[in-house]
Amino acid sequence: MCLDVDDTLVDYTTSSRAALTDMVGHAGAWELWQRITDEHCARLLAGELDYASMRNIRTRAFFAELGEFLDQGEATKREVRRQAVLAEGWTLFADVLPCLDWLRATGLPIAAVSNASGHHQRVKIASLGLAEYFDHVLIAGEVGAAKPDPVIFHTACLGLGVAPTETVHVGDRLHADAIGARDAGMRGVWLNRHGPQDGSLPDGIKAISSLAELPELLICELSGVSV
Ligand SMILES: [Mg+2]
Repeated sequence: MCLDVDDTLVDYTTSSRAALTDMVGHAGAWELWQRITDEHCARLLAGELDYASMRNIRTRAFFAELGEFLDQGEATKREVRRQAVLAEGWTLFADVLPCLDWLRATGLPIAAVSNASGHHQRVKIASLGLAEYFDHVLIAGEVGAAKPDPVIFHTACLGLGVAPTETVHVGDRLHADAIGARDAGMRGVWLNRHGPQDGSLPDGIKAISSLAELPELLICELSGVSV
């Protein structure tokens, strides 16, 4: 069993938006921050930047787009504060611990598979009491591959000792999580917290709108399959 972390288990978007609003002074720069973060995380994964450099350069690039040109020290100061506000806001969705307790009781091996870029993700997982639930934790920045790259999914399956065809991955991103897992030979489940889904789903993809629906999905719809 594989689970995404941010916006699947941890309400990351809410805390990240709040931290950005604190840093900028208004709530209107979220899309810009997301775009610049995606660009810089790609450079991190490509090995062009280390994690500390990425965070500093990203902050300077972000404020430059807003017309403010920061020196390295000021960018670091603002990013450190943003990280502190972010960490204060980390919370689990209400359906997470009951689901993890149920999964643990089944005896299934469980991996966290996250596209986060650094060690902070392990700190987050530990500080929220999640570490005890996972047999393996895979962080894209450490593996050197991010979802939907099959490398990170297959690395998770190897760590769990389970074939991809016998492994379910659940995540909030349709393409990176559910379709990526399917294309890696696994069973992809899209956690659409804004659901239920209208219209048809891509072939082979299951959708749920809450982790409370996961046990029933695993028991009923995937019956006969070892998950
Ligand atoms: Mg996610």
